[in-house]
Amino acid sequence: MTWGEADRFVRCAQGHVHWGRYGAAGLLAHHDGHVLLQHRAKLTIGGGTWGVFGGARNRDEEPVAAALRETAEESTLDAGEITVRGLMHEDHGGWGYDTVIGTAPALLHVRPASWESRDAAWVPVEDVAGHNLFEPFANAWPRLRGCLRRPVLVVDAANVMGSRADGWWRDRPGAAARLRDQLDAVDGVTGMGPFDVAYPEKVLVVEGKARDIGAGGTSVRVVAARGDGDDEIVATVASVVAPDVECVVVTADRELRRRCAAEGATVAGPRWLLSQLPPAH
Ligand SMILES: [Zn+2]
Repeated sequence: MTWGEADRFVRCAQGHVHWGRYGAAGLLAHHDGHVLLQHRAKLTIGGGTWGVFGGARNRDEEPVAAALRETAEESTLDAGEITVRGLMHEDHGGWGYDTVIGTAPALLHVRPASWESRDAAWVPVEDVAGHNLFEPFANAWPRLRGCLRRPVLVVDAANVMGSRADGWWRDRPGAAARLRDQLDAVDGVTGMGPFDVAYPEKVLVVEGKARDIGAGGTSVRVVAARGDGDDEIVATVASVVAPDVECVVVTADRELRRRCAAEGATVAGPRWLLSQLPPAH
């Protein structure tokens, strides 16, 4: 690590002494039932215990950027391999810690790369609690364990478009493309599954006159209904739902909500989604 103005101790409103003037952040990477842990070096706080890679945030540095940077400094992990899925925030008053939760494409070979780390290991989820854990991580683990999921948002385009009066009835493809582009621009959403902030994969199901809009170069997966839009949404949900997936379907259609819930998805209303979107252009 490079020492800077962020690297000092502060006392939070709860009376603890913490490292990091602007708070701190760490990365909980997971893959196939394993999480990446750091064995902390003897001379660190909590020396000899296991926790996540991470450290002090720089002034104005976003938690995700800080967690990935610190992990890349303390280990050989290529942060570009990690897909960020969510974030859990602990606010102590005057100090906060963000655990960034991300998935790795494999159990990548990771070695320590700084004096702060003695070792790095992929630990099976069920074995984590049996390790000698760094106390703050031990306290957070029960909640973090529930966050080892991949958030996926499935949006009923027609229903969400119909819930806002933006002239969609004059130009359905245009309105669907606007919604797609707004979804693309969303960085993180609140109120999705166990995460404080989720960074979901986004699927937009379009039908009728809007069915040919395509992805338009965005990160949004656009599914065109071949026949009935509701059937397409249910089929999409069925293909997404898995034990390690947090699938949220956005629609206000009562019957569709029932069918998606029966497939194992959670349902949310258009108003929630619209509150998460940046302004349309
Ligand atoms: Zn504290």
